[in-house]
Amino acid sequence: MKKNQSYTMQKLISSVLILLIAFVFAGSTPPEEGMYPLSEISKLDLKKAGLKIDINQIYNPNGIGLIDALVNIGGCTGSFVSDEGLIITNHHCVFDYVSRASSVENNYLENGFLAEDKSKEIPAVGLTCKITESYEDVSDIILNAANEAKDVSERTKAIQKKSRELIEEAEKKNPEIKAEVSEMFIGKTYILFKYKIIKDVRLVYAPPRSIGEFGGEEDNWIWPRHTGDFSFIRAYVGKDGSPAEYSKENVPFTPKKFLKVNPNGVEENDFVFILGYPGRTFRHQPSQFIEYQEKFLLPYTAELYTWMMSEFEKLGSNDKALELKLSSRIKSLANTQKNYLGKSKGLRRLSLVDKKKNEELELKKFILADKNLSSKYSTLFDDIASVYNEIFELGKFQILYPQLMNNNMLMRIGNGLLDYSEEMQKPTSERKTQFNEKNLPAFESRMTMTFQDYNPVVEKLTLTRMLGDAVKYDEMSVLTYFAELKSNGVNIDNFVDELINKTVLRTKEDFDKYKTMSPTELENLNDPLISFLIELRNGYKPISKKNDERTGKLNILLAQYLDLKKEWQNKTFVPDANSTLRLTYGNIRGYSPVDATYYKPITTLSGVIEKSYLGGDYAVPKKLRELYDKKDFGRFKNKKLNDVPVSILYNTDTSGGNSGSPIMNANGEIIGVNFDRAFEATINDFAWSEDYSRSIGVDIRYVLWVTQKIGGADYLLKEMGVSLD
Ligand code: ASP
Repeated sequence: MKKNQSYTMQKLISSVLILLIAFVFAGSTPPEEGMYPLSEISKLDLKKAGLKIDINQIYNPNGIGLIDALVNIGGCTGSFVSDEGLIITNHHCVFDYVSRASSVENNYLENGFLAEDKSKEIPAVGLTCKITESYEDVSDIILNAANEAKDVSERTKAIQKKSRELIEEAEKKNPEIKAEVSEMFIGKTYILFKYKIIKDVRLVYAPPRSIGEFGGEEDNWIWPRHTGDFSFIRAYVGKDGSPAEYSKENVPFTPKKFLKVNPNGVEENDFVFILGYPGRTFRHQPSQFIEYQEKFLLPYTAELYTWMMSEFEKLGSNDKALELKLSSRIKSLANTQKNYLGKSKGLRRLSLVDKKKNEELELKKFILADKNLSSKYSTLFDDIASVYNEIFELGKFQILYPQLMNNNMLMRIGNGLLDYSEEMQKPTSERKTQFNEKNLPAFESRMTMTFQDYNPVVEKLTLTRMLGDAVKYDEMSVLTYFAELKSNGVNIDNFVDELINKTVLRTKEDFDKYKTMSPTELENLNDPLISFLIELRNGYKPISKKNDERTGKLNILLAQYLDLKKEWQNKTFVPDANSTLRLTYGNIRGYSPVDATYYKPITTLSGVIEKSYLGGDYAVPKKLRELYDKKDFGRFKNKKLNDVPVSILYNTDTSGGNSGSPIMNANGEIIGVNFDRAFEATINDFAWSEDYSRSIGVDIRYVLWVTQKIGGADYLLKEMGVSLD
């Protein structure tokens, strides 16, 4: 071909491509960063983006909408898929409960679990379902109380106190609900949410781990993915329909709304939207916040968790029962560790801190160019910097101290005891919310679980490591007790042995016996663990007061920072995720995360088989292999692919907590269950971009195929209104 001929050909090809792309995207608006709260949903033009139902059918403040089918389960999301309280969520969201129900002889985690009928379902003790009932803007009330605080260190307490009053008032009016005040924009917007809490939740079906966690940690946070990360649970209430603790007499809950399952799934480019409870994002924070994460939080935590995981694996390698007991802890450590590695890599790749710093330079210029702004914000950036200078001076302290106090069962037990004893001295109205009469059963069940998880060998190992770090790092000396341990040359190994071997707190019965004592009585016991914790907690008090002061200052400064950004960019923002109900939308779409790659957005059963030859975490159940060999795909075969679709990729804005969220098509029918993000998208907690932000879900066709063909749970398909052929 001659040069100009080839040029014309290329031009022709690119024009055709442009036309093709224009055709594919016709009528669809590109998705935007945004986890939209309920108050914003009606303002969205979702029809233009591809939605085919009325927006009122998603959220109807005066009636019933799809949002009424949503539940928050233990920090994950789930949705009702039948009128008998059947909920679909992720396998990883119920992993802990399946593992607690398992034994070496009856290993439901490895082999999967199916309740043949409702009477065989296993209670997931401690797991509750939260359903959003209503919400109300209480910003004025909270901010008035905050502004009355006599100094900034009291501001945080004033906000907490007023929130607690509003919560109590709401719960008094309706004792069936649980109220929460959520901060939407720091120092600006506060919403009072009312939730129905379902306390009796039971396991219905969990696929074998080799499907539910196919690919293990190797594939976690990775695309292409082939994981069947789903499970079914069921919500129960008392006979009168109101929430009740577990009882055999309870009946399945009838939700206001359940989602219609569409067994035909989706195709590439289809419009999708997701409802769910994303945990936390930090997009409205200054550069220093991200810098602190990059320098301290991410590397230290990732290193500590890597070490813990490898030690736990060693401990479990010769002890099946311990391996099972530790499986859930290892999984959760690994999940955070890899997420943090992804974030660290993303921060470097995007130079996010520098970008934020440059943005702040532009903001400063914007202020200087305007007299009014100059007088209003003259010290804003210096004030933020001075708060962060103090935080940077504390270095790892702000990370290691909470790890030491919470990431060890022995410390959790001791702290639980002291918290209980201290809080019970106070009048109910002044107690931390978890110690309200109403929340005490949840506290008790958490403590029971902590004792179940307790293992002296494991606790010794982690406590020695963390206490060793506390003595090693100079910045930890801000708490004089650590400085003393260091200067007295205390042998940490023996010290920890003493705490473990000599404490009176060995069983939940011991805990119950001592918890009714007053703090002074507890102190007089001269128990090594209790005395050690009292020293730490007393030493921490002035540091905590300083923390409150900084939080109070930032509460004012970050509200101004956001106002300024709004004025500069002339736009409004969506609040950061805070575990409240949100909507996000986008399309089924592939991406090109690194040089010279393009990933398609749908994986298949053939891909599962392809990976299965690697063995290990990729090994599949024999039955899956046999079904594949027979090409027994039932009605779940996608004609175009000539295969069963397994996982899907889409450009929505999700975060941790969106695990288990229903992925819905343009008609509001469930076509998948969200369970992860791609490695590059872990950074979207700090900054979202269409380029790299991709979420991962399990395709409903794989869910149904596995449930029917591997689980043999035809009755569940029928219950969801899905015909078998
Ligand atoms: N798999 C994730 C989680 O553990 C979901 C996500 O963060 O996107 O929460």
